[in-house]
Amino acid sequence: MNTPRHSRPKGTLDFVPPVADELRHLEYVAARLSTRFGFREIVTPVFEHTDVFTKSSGDASDIVTKEMYSFKDRGERDLTLRPEGTPGVVRAVLENRLRIPVRLYYFGPYFRFGRPQKGRFREFRQYGVEAIGEASPYVDAEIVLLGDEFFRTLGISDCTTELNSIGCRACRPGYRKELVAFLYAHKDELCEDCRERMDRNPLRVFDCKNEGCREVVADAPKTAGHLCDDCADHYDGVKRALDRMKVSYGINDRLVRGLDYYNRTVFEYISSRLGAQDSLGGGGRYDYLVEDLGGPPTPSSGFALGIDRTMMAMPEKPPLPEGTQPPRESLAYVVWMGEEELKHAVELAAKLRAEGVATRVDFDAARPKRQFRSADAAGAACCVIVGPDELAKGVYSLKDLATGEQEEVPVNMIVPRVRALFR
Ligand code: AMP
Repeated sequence: MNTPRHSRPKGTLDFVPPVADELRHLEYVAARLSTRFGFREIVTPVFEHTDVFTKSSGDASDIVTKEMYSFKDRGERDLTLRPEGTPGVVRAVLENRLRIPVRLYYFGPYFRFGRPQKGRFREFRQYGVEAIGEASPYVDAEIVLLGDEFFRTLGISDCTTELNSIGCRACRPGYRKELVAFLYAHKDELCEDCRERMDRNPLRVFDCKNEGCREVVADAPKTAGHLCDDCADHYDGVKRALDRMKVSYGINDRLVRGLDYYNRTVFEYISSRLGAQDSLGGGGRYDYLVEDLGGPPTPSSGFALGIDRTMMAMPEKPPLPEGTQPPRESLAYVVWMGEEELKHAVELAAKLRAEGVATRVDFDAARPKRQFRSADAAGAACCVIVGPDELAKGVYSLKDLATGEQEEVPVNMIVPRVRALFR
Protein backbone atom coordinates (compact mmCIF):
# COMPACT_ATOMS: atom_id res chain seq x y z
CA MET A 1 0.00 0.00 0.00
CA ASN A 2 1.19 3.55 -0.64
CA THR A 3 2.26 5.71 2.27
CA PRO A 4 -0.88 7.62 3.34
CA ARG A 5 -0.76 11.25 2.32
CA HIS A 6 -2.64 12.51 5.39
CA SER A 7 -2.12 11.59 9.00
CA ARG A 8 -4.34 12.36 11.99
CA PRO A 9 -3.40 15.39 14.09
CA LYS A 10 -0.92 14.79 16.89
CA GLY A 11 -2.56 13.55 20.08
CA THR A 12 -5.74 12.23 18.41
CA LEU A 13 -6.98 8.66 17.94
CA ASP A 14 -8.94 6.79 15.27
CA PHE A 15 -11.39 4.16 16.47
CA VAL A 16 -11.73 1.68 13.63
CA PRO A 17 -13.96 -1.42 13.82
CA PRO A 18 -14.11 -3.40 16.06
CA VAL A 19 -12.57 -0.93 18.57
CA ALA A 20 -15.36 1.52 17.83
CA ASP A 21 -17.82 -1.20 18.94
CA GLU A 22 -15.96 -1.34 22.25
CA LEU A 23 -16.37 2.41 22.65
CA ARG A 24 -20.10 2.06 21.98
CA HIS A 25 -20.22 -0.74 24.53
CA LEU A 26 -18.67 1.50 27.19
CA GLU A 27 -21.19 4.19 26.38
CA TYR A 28 -23.96 1.64 26.75
CA VAL A 29 -22.70 0.43 30.15
CA ALA A 30 -22.31 4.06 31.30
CA ALA A 31 -25.85 4.94 30.22
CA ARG A 32 -27.37 1.90 31.93
CA LEU A 33 -25.56 2.44 35.22
CA SER A 34 -26.26 6.18 35.27
CA THR A 35 -29.93 5.60 34.61
CA ARG A 36 -30.03 3.11 37.47
CA PHE A 37 -28.80 5.86 39.82
CA GLY A 38 -31.40 8.31 38.53
CA PHE A 39 -29.20 10.32 36.12
CA ARG A 40 -30.56 11.42 32.73
CA GLU A 41 -28.54 12.20 29.65
CA ILE A 42 -27.56 15.73 28.67
CA VAL A 43 -25.84 16.70 25.41
CA THR A 44 -24.16 20.11 25.21
CA PRO A 45 -22.03 21.81 22.51
CA VAL A 46 -18.44 20.75 21.90
CA PHE A 47 -17.44 24.42 22.07
CA GLU A 48 -18.55 27.13 24.49
CA HIS A 49 -17.87 30.81 25.02
CA THR A 50 -14.37 30.90 26.48
CA ASP A 51 -15.45 32.62 29.69
CA VAL A 52 -17.61 29.61 30.66
CA PHE A 53 -14.28 27.89 31.36
CA THR A 54 -12.23 30.83 32.64
CA LYS A 55 -15.00 31.69 35.14
CA SER A 56 -15.25 28.12 36.42
CA SER A 57 -12.21 25.89 35.93
CA GLY A 58 -10.18 28.82 37.22
CA ASP A 59 -7.81 31.33 35.67
CA ALA A 60 -5.05 29.78 37.73
CA SER A 61 -5.48 26.17 36.61
CA ASP A 62 -3.07 24.69 34.06
CA ILE A 63 -5.98 23.59 31.90
CA VAL A 64 -7.21 27.14 31.48
CA THR A 65 -3.84 28.87 31.25
CA LYS A 66 -1.95 26.43 29.04
CA GLU A 67 -4.14 23.73 27.54
CA MET A 68 -7.27 25.23 26.01
CA TYR A 69 -8.04 25.16 22.32
CA SER A 70 -9.33 28.73 22.14
CA PHE A 71 -10.07 30.58 18.94
CA LYS A 72 -12.02 33.45 17.47
CA ASP A 73 -14.72 32.41 15.03
CA ARG A 74 -15.49 34.35 11.86
CA GLY A 75 -17.82 36.56 13.88
CA GLU A 76 -14.97 37.54 16.27
CA ARG A 77 -16.48 35.55 19.17
CA ASP A 78 -14.10 34.03 21.72
CA LEU A 79 -14.80 30.31 21.76
CA THR A 80 -13.07 27.26 23.25
CA LEU A 81 -13.28 23.55 22.48
CA ARG A 82 -14.43 22.15 25.82
CA PRO A 83 -11.51 20.87 27.93
CA GLU A 84 -13.95 19.25 30.39
CA GLY A 85 -17.67 18.71 30.86
CA THR A 86 -18.89 20.28 34.08
CA PRO A 87 -18.95 24.02 33.21
CA GLY A 88 -20.92 23.46 29.98
CA VAL A 89 -23.42 21.25 31.80
CA VAL A 90 -23.93 23.85 34.55
CA ARG A 91 -24.28 26.58 31.91
CA ALA A 92 -26.95 24.48 30.14
CA VAL A 93 -28.82 23.74 33.39
CA LEU A 94 -29.05 27.48 34.11
CA GLU A 95 -29.81 28.56 30.55
CA ASN A 96 -32.57 25.95 30.15
CA ARG A 97 -33.87 26.65 33.67
CA LEU A 98 -33.85 22.95 34.61
CA ARG A 99 -35.52 22.21 37.93
CA ILE A 100 -32.85 21.78 40.58
CA PRO A 101 -31.98 19.26 42.01
CA VAL A 102 -31.17 17.50 38.78
CA ARG A 103 -28.95 14.47 38.02
CA LEU A 104 -27.31 14.42 34.59
CA TYR A 105 -24.82 12.23 32.73
CA TYR A 106 -22.89 12.77 29.50
CA PHE A 107 -20.43 11.13 27.17
CA GLY A 108 -18.30 12.83 24.55
CA PRO A 109 -15.00 14.23 23.24
CA TYR A 110 -12.88 16.78 25.17
CA PHE A 111 -9.81 18.72 24.06
CA ARG A 112 -6.63 19.75 25.86
CA PHE A 113 -3.43 20.97 24.28
CA GLY A 114 -1.00 18.94 26.38
CA ARG A 115 2.14 17.03 25.52
CA PRO A 116 0.85 13.74 24.08
CA GLN A 117 2.11 10.56 25.76
CA LYS A 118 0.76 7.17 26.74
CA GLY A 119 -2.74 7.78 28.10
CA ARG A 120 -2.60 11.52 27.44
CA PHE A 121 -4.17 12.79 24.26
CA ARG A 122 -5.24 16.12 22.81
CA GLU A 123 -8.67 14.76 22.00
CA PHE A 124 -10.02 12.23 24.49
CA ARG A 125 -13.39 11.01 25.68
CA GLN A 126 -15.04 11.28 29.05
CA TYR A 127 -18.11 9.85 30.74
CA GLY A 128 -19.33 12.22 33.42
CA VAL A 129 -22.15 12.60 35.92
CA GLU A 130 -23.29 15.70 37.80
CA ALA A 131 -25.69 15.79 40.76
CA ILE A 132 -26.65 19.46 40.83
CA GLY A 133 -28.45 20.72 43.93
CA GLU A 134 -27.69 17.90 46.40
CA ALA A 135 -25.64 18.61 49.52
CA SER A 136 -25.54 15.34 51.48
CA PRO A 137 -22.29 13.42 51.97
CA TYR A 138 -24.30 10.40 50.84
CA VAL A 139 -24.46 11.95 47.38
CA ASP A 140 -20.67 12.18 47.14
CA ALA A 141 -20.47 8.57 48.26
CA GLU A 142 -23.12 7.44 45.77
CA ILE A 143 -21.15 9.08 42.96
CA VAL A 144 -17.94 7.34 44.07
CA LEU A 145 -19.94 4.08 44.14
CA LEU A 146 -21.27 4.63 40.61
CA GLY A 147 -17.76 5.07 39.15
CA ASP A 148 -16.57 2.06 41.11
CA GLU A 149 -19.40 -0.04 39.64
CA PHE A 150 -18.60 1.21 36.15
CA PHE A 151 -15.03 -0.07 36.34
CA ARG A 152 -16.07 -3.32 37.97
CA THR A 153 -18.72 -3.96 35.32
CA LEU A 154 -16.00 -3.64 32.69
CA GLY A 155 -13.82 -6.19 34.46
CA ILE A 156 -11.21 -3.68 35.68
CA SER A 157 -10.21 -5.24 38.96
CA ASP A 158 -7.04 -3.29 39.77
CA CYS A 159 -8.82 0.06 40.20
CA THR A 160 -8.44 1.69 43.62
CA THR A 161 -10.25 4.75 44.90
CA GLU A 162 -8.46 7.59 46.68
CA LEU A 163 -10.28 10.12 48.80
CA ASN A 164 -9.52 13.49 50.37
CA SER A 165 -11.20 16.68 51.52
CA ILE A 166 -9.84 20.06 50.47
CA GLY A 167 -12.08 22.22 52.65
CA CYS A 168 -14.19 25.21 51.70
CA ARG A 169 -13.91 28.98 51.26
CA ALA A 170 -14.02 29.36 55.03
CA CYS A 171 -11.13 27.08 55.96
CA ARG A 172 -8.99 27.02 52.83
CA PRO A 173 -7.51 30.54 53.03
CA GLY A 174 -5.94 29.81 56.46
CA TYR A 175 -4.60 26.51 55.19
CA ARG A 176 -3.34 28.10 51.99
CA LYS A 177 -1.40 30.70 53.93
CA GLU A 178 0.31 28.01 55.96
CA LEU A 179 1.10 25.99 52.83
CA VAL A 180 2.56 28.99 50.98
CA ALA A 181 4.79 29.77 53.98
CA PHE A 182 5.99 26.17 53.98
CA LEU A 183 6.64 26.21 50.22
CA TYR A 184 8.60 29.48 50.47
CA ALA A 185 10.78 27.89 53.12
CA HIS A 186 11.56 25.08 50.63
CA LYS A 187 11.62 27.23 47.52
CA ASP A 188 15.07 26.12 46.38
CA GLU A 189 14.07 22.46 46.38
CA LEU A 190 11.07 23.03 44.08
CA CYS A 191 11.01 22.82 40.26
CA GLU A 192 10.51 25.94 38.18
CA ASP A 193 6.82 25.16 37.49
CA CYS A 194 6.11 24.76 41.20
CA ARG A 195 7.90 27.98 42.11
CA GLU A 196 5.58 29.68 39.68
CA ARG A 197 2.52 27.83 41.06
CA MET A 198 3.39 28.73 44.65
CA ASP A 199 1.50 32.02 44.64
CA ARG A 200 -0.90 31.41 41.80
CA ASN A 201 -2.19 27.99 42.77
CA PRO A 202 -0.15 26.48 45.64
CA LEU A 203 -2.30 23.36 46.06
CA ARG A 204 -1.22 22.20 42.61
CA VAL A 205 2.30 21.64 43.93
CA PHE A 206 0.87 18.37 45.32
CA ASP A 207 0.24 17.20 41.74
CA CYS A 208 3.82 17.70 40.57
CA LYS A 209 5.49 14.50 39.38
CA ASN A 210 9.02 15.87 39.96
CA GLU A 211 10.88 13.72 42.53
CA GLY A 212 12.30 16.75 44.44
CA CYS A 213 8.87 18.38 44.71
CA ARG A 214 7.33 15.09 45.85
CA GLU A 215 9.83 14.88 48.66
CA VAL A 216 9.07 18.44 49.74
CA VAL A 217 5.28 18.01 49.78
CA ALA A 218 5.54 14.76 51.74
CA ASP A 219 6.15 16.98 54.80
CA ALA A 220 3.88 19.88 53.77
CA PRO A 221 0.77 20.69 55.83
CA LYS A 222 -2.22 18.77 54.47
CA THR A 223 -5.74 20.06 53.79
CA ALA A 224 -7.47 17.44 55.90
CA GLY A 225 -5.72 18.64 59.06
CA HIS A 226 -7.06 22.16 58.59
CA LEU A 227 -10.78 21.62 57.94
CA CYS A 228 -13.43 23.74 59.67
CA ASP A 229 -16.01 21.82 61.72
CA ASP A 230 -18.58 21.71 58.90
CA CYS A 231 -16.04 20.38 56.39
CA ALA A 232 -14.72 17.84 58.89
CA ASP A 233 -18.31 16.63 59.55
CA HIS A 234 -18.96 16.35 55.84
CA TYR A 235 -15.74 14.40 55.30
CA ASP A 236 -16.63 11.98 58.12
CA GLY A 237 -20.10 11.65 56.59
CA VAL A 238 -18.67 10.69 53.19
CA LYS A 239 -16.42 8.07 54.75
CA ARG A 240 -19.29 6.62 56.80
CA ALA A 241 -21.56 6.53 53.76
CA LEU A 242 -18.87 4.78 51.69
CA ASP A 243 -18.49 2.18 54.43
CA ARG A 244 -22.24 1.62 54.49
CA MET A 245 -22.26 1.24 50.69
CA LYS A 246 -19.35 -1.20 51.02
CA VAL A 247 -17.09 0.83 48.73
CA SER A 248 -13.44 0.33 49.52
CA TYR A 249 -11.19 3.39 49.34
CA GLY A 250 -7.94 4.74 50.66
CA ILE A 251 -7.19 8.18 52.06
CA ASN A 252 -4.72 10.24 50.01
CA ASP A 253 -4.10 13.49 51.87
CA ARG A 254 -2.06 14.85 48.93
CA LEU A 255 -4.95 14.55 46.47
CA VAL A 256 -6.08 18.03 45.33
CA ARG A 257 -7.31 17.62 41.67
CA GLY A 258 -6.49 19.95 38.83
CA LEU A 259 -9.59 22.11 38.65
CA ASP A 260 -10.13 25.11 40.83
CA TYR A 261 -13.79 24.76 41.56
CA TYR A 262 -13.69 21.71 43.82
CA ASN A 263 -14.38 22.02 47.52
CA ARG A 264 -14.64 19.46 50.30
CA THR A 265 -14.75 15.97 48.77
CA VAL A 266 -12.27 15.05 46.04
CA PHE A 267 -11.60 11.53 44.78
CA GLU A 268 -9.73 9.74 42.07
CA TYR A 269 -9.77 6.25 40.56
CA ILE A 270 -6.28 4.87 40.00
CA SER A 271 -5.22 1.89 37.90
CA SER A 272 -1.87 0.14 38.26
CA ARG A 273 -1.93 -0.92 34.58
CA LEU A 274 -1.53 2.55 33.13
CA GLY A 275 1.98 3.74 33.99
CA ALA A 276 2.57 7.46 34.61
CA GLN A 277 -0.93 8.57 33.58
CA ASP A 278 -2.55 6.30 36.13
CA SER A 279 -5.77 8.23 36.84
CA LEU A 280 -8.82 6.60 35.29
CA GLY A 281 -11.07 9.37 36.46
CA GLY A 282 -11.98 11.57 39.34
CA GLY A 283 -14.37 14.07 40.72
CA GLY A 284 -15.66 15.76 43.79
CA ARG A 285 -17.94 18.38 45.23
CA TYR A 286 -18.25 21.82 43.66
CA ASP A 287 -20.61 23.86 45.81
CA TYR A 288 -19.66 27.28 44.37
CA LEU A 289 -19.59 26.63 40.64
CA VAL A 290 -23.27 27.18 39.88
CA GLU A 291 -23.10 30.53 41.66
CA ASP A 292 -19.85 31.46 39.88
CA LEU A 293 -21.66 30.90 36.58
CA GLY A 294 -24.51 33.20 37.57
CA GLY A 295 -26.95 30.80 39.28
CA PRO A 296 -28.21 30.56 42.85
CA PRO A 297 -26.05 28.92 45.56
CA THR A 298 -26.32 25.23 44.63
CA PRO A 299 -24.36 22.41 46.29
CA SER A 300 -23.23 19.94 43.64
CA SER A 301 -21.05 16.92 43.10
CA GLY A 302 -19.87 14.83 40.15
CA PHE A 303 -17.18 12.86 38.36
CA ALA A 304 -15.49 12.59 34.96
CA LEU A 305 -14.00 9.28 33.87
CA GLY A 306 -11.51 8.98 31.03
CA ILE A 307 -12.85 6.55 28.45
CA ASP A 308 -9.62 6.17 26.47
CA ARG A 309 -7.72 5.20 29.59
CA THR A 310 -10.57 2.93 30.67
CA MET A 311 -10.22 1.08 27.37
CA MET A 312 -6.46 0.78 27.97
CA ALA A 313 -7.04 -0.64 31.46
CA MET A 314 -9.68 -3.14 30.38
CA PRO A 315 -8.76 -6.83 30.17
CA GLU A 316 -8.64 -8.31 26.65
CA LYS A 317 -12.06 -9.86 26.79
CA PRO A 318 -14.18 -8.02 29.34
CA PRO A 319 -16.75 -10.20 31.04
CA LEU A 320 -20.16 -8.90 30.07
CA PRO A 321 -22.60 -9.30 32.94
CA GLU A 322 -26.16 -10.30 32.15
CA GLY A 323 -28.11 -7.46 30.60
CA THR A 324 -25.17 -5.25 29.69
CA GLN A 325 -24.46 -6.65 26.24
CA PRO A 326 -25.18 -4.16 23.50
CA PRO A 327 -27.62 -5.48 20.92
CA ARG A 328 -24.93 -6.74 18.54
CA GLU A 329 -26.62 -8.08 15.41
CA SER A 330 -25.23 -10.85 13.35
CA LEU A 331 -24.96 -10.23 9.67
CA ALA A 332 -26.78 -11.96 6.80
CA TYR A 333 -25.64 -11.75 3.19
CA VAL A 334 -28.08 -12.13 0.30
CA VAL A 335 -26.37 -13.86 -2.63
CA TRP A 336 -27.91 -13.47 -6.09
CA MET A 337 -27.28 -15.24 -9.41
CA GLY A 338 -28.30 -12.86 -12.21
CA GLU A 339 -30.15 -9.62 -12.94
CA GLU A 340 -33.59 -11.18 -12.36
CA GLU A 341 -32.55 -12.59 -8.97
CA LEU A 342 -30.92 -9.28 -8.02
CA LYS A 343 -34.35 -7.62 -8.04
CA HIS A 344 -35.57 -10.25 -5.57
CA ALA A 345 -32.38 -9.88 -3.52
CA VAL A 346 -33.02 -6.14 -3.07
CA GLU A 347 -36.57 -6.85 -1.89
CA LEU A 348 -35.43 -9.62 0.42
CA ALA A 349 -32.73 -7.39 1.95
CA ALA A 350 -35.38 -4.73 2.67
CA LYS A 351 -37.64 -7.35 4.29
CA LEU A 352 -34.87 -8.75 6.47
CA ARG A 353 -33.77 -5.28 7.58
CA ALA A 354 -37.37 -4.31 8.35
CA GLU A 355 -37.43 -7.32 10.70
CA GLY A 356 -34.27 -6.13 12.40
CA VAL A 357 -31.78 -8.45 10.68
CA ALA A 358 -28.51 -6.76 9.64
CA THR A 359 -28.23 -7.55 5.94
CA ARG A 360 -25.84 -6.84 3.11
CA VAL A 361 -25.80 -7.54 -0.62
CA ASP A 362 -22.62 -7.45 -2.68
CA PHE A 363 -23.85 -5.50 -5.71
CA ASP A 364 -20.43 -5.25 -7.31
CA ALA A 365 -19.65 -8.94 -7.61
CA ALA A 366 -21.66 -10.50 -10.43
CA ARG A 367 -20.39 -14.02 -9.64
CA PRO A 368 -21.88 -15.79 -6.58
CA LYS A 369 -18.46 -17.19 -5.70
CA ARG A 370 -17.13 -13.68 -5.17
CA GLN A 371 -20.25 -12.75 -3.21
CA PHE A 372 -19.59 -15.67 -0.85
CA ARG A 373 -16.05 -14.44 -0.43
CA SER A 374 -17.33 -10.94 0.49
CA ALA A 375 -19.69 -12.51 3.03
CA ASP A 376 -16.78 -14.35 4.64
CA ALA A 377 -14.64 -11.23 4.69
CA ALA A 378 -17.42 -9.23 6.37
CA GLY A 379 -17.81 -11.90 9.07
CA ALA A 380 -21.38 -12.76 8.02
CA ALA A 381 -23.14 -15.58 9.87
CA CYS A 382 -25.09 -16.84 6.87
CA CYS A 383 -25.93 -16.38 3.20
CA VAL A 384 -29.45 -16.41 1.82
CA ILE A 385 -29.16 -17.58 -1.79
CA VAL A 386 -31.58 -16.35 -4.46
CA GLY A 387 -31.23 -18.42 -7.64
CA PRO A 388 -33.56 -19.34 -10.48
CA ASP A 389 -34.20 -22.82 -9.01
CA GLU A 390 -35.10 -21.34 -5.65
CA LEU A 391 -37.44 -18.77 -7.21
CA ALA A 392 -39.19 -21.52 -9.22
CA LYS A 393 -39.76 -23.54 -6.01
CA GLY A 394 -40.76 -20.62 -3.78
CA VAL A 395 -37.80 -21.14 -1.42
CA TYR A 396 -34.42 -19.62 -0.54
CA SER A 397 -31.29 -21.59 0.19
CA LEU A 398 -29.87 -20.71 3.57
CA LYS A 399 -26.17 -21.43 4.11
CA ASP A 400 -24.74 -21.40 7.61
CA LEU A 401 -21.22 -20.03 7.13
CA ALA A 402 -19.98 -21.43 10.42
CA THR A 403 -20.86 -25.06 9.61
CA GLY A 404 -21.13 -24.90 5.80
CA GLU A 405 -24.55 -26.57 6.02
CA GLN A 406 -27.19 -25.53 3.52
CA GLU A 407 -30.96 -26.02 3.54
CA GLU A 408 -33.97 -24.88 1.57
CA VAL A 409 -36.35 -22.60 3.47
CA PRO A 410 -39.84 -21.61 2.29
CA VAL A 411 -39.97 -17.89 1.41
CA ASN A 412 -42.32 -17.01 4.29
CA MET A 413 -40.10 -18.79 6.84
CA ILE A 414 -36.81 -17.10 6.01
CA VAL A 415 -36.82 -14.41 8.74
CA PRO A 416 -37.37 -16.78 11.69
CA ARG A 417 -34.86 -19.28 10.22
CA VAL A 418 -32.15 -16.60 9.89
CA ARG A 419 -32.92 -15.41 13.40
CA ALA A 420 -32.73 -18.95 14.80
CA LEU A 421 -29.34 -19.32 13.18
CA PHE A 422 -28.03 -16.17 14.85
CA ARG A 423 -28.96 -17.46 18.25
P1 AMP B 1 -10.02 15.66 34.77
O1 AMP B 1 -11.14 16.28 33.99
O2 AMP B 1 -8.70 16.32 34.54
O3 AMP B 1 -10.36 15.46 36.19
O4 AMP B 1 -9.81 14.22 34.16
C1 AMP B 1 -10.68 13.15 34.40
C2 AMP B 1 -10.18 11.95 33.63
O5 AMP B 1 -10.18 12.22 32.23
C3 AMP B 1 -8.73 11.58 33.91
O6 AMP B 1 -8.63 10.77 35.04
C4 AMP B 1 -8.34 10.84 32.67
O7 AMP B 1 -8.79 9.51 32.71
C5 AMP B 1 -9.11 11.57 31.60
N1 AMP B 1 -8.22 12.58 30.95
C6 AMP B 1 -7.96 13.84 31.33
N2 AMP B 1 -7.12 14.44 30.48
C7 AMP B 1 -6.82 13.52 29.54
C8 AMP B 1 -5.99 13.51 28.37
N3 AMP B 1 -5.30 14.59 28.00
N4 AMP B 1 -5.93 12.37 27.63
C9 AMP B 1 -6.63 11.27 28.00
N5 AMP B 1 -7.44 11.22 29.07
C10 AMP B 1 -7.53 12.32 29.83
